[in-house]
Amino acid sequence: MSSFAIRDTFIPYNLPDISEEEVTAAADTVRSRWLAKGPRTLQFEKEFAEYVGAKHAVAMNSCTAALHVALLTQNLQPGDEVITTPMTFASSANTIVHAGGVPVFADIDYTTGCIDPAEIEKKITPRTRGIVPVHYSGQVCDLDRIYEIADRHGLFVSEDAAHALCSRYKGRLIGNRLHDTASYSFYATKNLATGDGGMLVTDKDEIAQRARVLSGQGMSQNAWNRYAKGGKWRYDICEFGYKYNMFDLQAALGLTQLHRLEEMQQARLKIAELYQREFAGIDACDPPVVPDYAEHCWHLYVLRIRPELLTIDRDRFIEELNARNVGTSVHFIPVHTMSIYQKTFGLKEGDYPMAEKHFERLISLPLYPSLPLEDAQYVVDAVRDIVETYHR
Ligand SMILES: *Cc1c(COP(=O)(O)O)cnc(C)c1O
Repeated sequence: MSSFAIRDTFIPYNLPDISEEEVTAAADTVRSRWLAKGPRTLQFEKEFAEYVGAKHAVAMNSCTAALHVALLTQNLQPGDEVITTPMTFASSANTIVHAGGVPVFADIDYTTGCIDPAEIEKKITPRTRGIVPVHYSGQVCDLDRIYEIADRHGLFVSEDAAHALCSRYKGRLIGNRLHDTASYSFYATKNLATGDGGMLVTDKDEIAQRARVLSGQGMSQNAWNRYAKGGKWRYDICEFGYKYNMFDLQAALGLTQLHRLEEMQQARLKIAELYQREFAGIDACDPPVVPDYAEHCWHLYVLRIRPELLTIDRDRFIEELNARNVGTSVHFIPVHTMSIYQKTFGLKEGDYPMAEKHFERLISLPLYPSLPLEDAQYVVDAVRDIVETYHR
């Protein structure tokens, strides 16, 4: 008999790290009566750009909005193809459709879970216009190879950096020296959380300028300030824009979270180190492997199990964790298996074997700054107990 004892309380899969500083910043913003886009949003954009080391940052109400706008600035024509990964949240691909393009999937590198540059090359046609690589889980795509492919074929690169705030490629933060754009998410579960929110980052003046207009209803610039003393009431609509801007209540949370980011990252790192060390010693576990070129920001801890060593599959493994009071998630169900993608683009199961193999094995485990190390150790013990109970 195993000595494992099930705890009384449930360990949630994710919890945003909210301190009294966020509470105060939100309350101050509400008291100031400036709720909409205003000074805090501009300050957040400025500090965010400085933090990642990019020239411009344009704050939006989600990463999905930022991904959409990033593609709109590339003026896709009907039939234009954009290559992305099936191992992502649907918005990376949905926004290609919204921007008038055709999403084309390229399979993943099984080691990192990120899009495989060799697979990108196979999918390039005369209609290919760009690439949307996703820095999956906080792992980093092989950017030198992707940028080289983009340059050789004249493609844009719109990085989905929803998971990658604080990840580094060859020592540089994602966002520093971009090909074109990177889009970040501040959704409640992400490393920096404002509830909902996003940021488009670029070094290119024309992209930043157009992104500001497109995300603000297509209004000529600085319209947000039109109610202030001396503000100009006359504006023009110069594009069919979107209501995608961030507002100050979100930015107040964002600024506070940005100031606490290093501290929050340190806490994530400690948990990730514990998981990496412990899971390396369990034969039915395949802990993440971080390539030499990368620093992982541990947005997600994606553990792969080896079902060939077990009498249960991944779905049952998740149920067993739940029965032991451990919350989990699955990132992601491959996009090419979603019904609308299958119906519209003729995709089917079996098309992307690496993404599917990864999907069948993966479990996202609890990892967030306020997770006590004892609880992380409990998660390890629960996994070990399940492996011992159901070993072949
Ligand atoms: C969360 C997420 C998004 C969407 O972010 P929102 O801010 O919720 O729009 C996009 N891509 C990936 C990979 C994500 O995980």
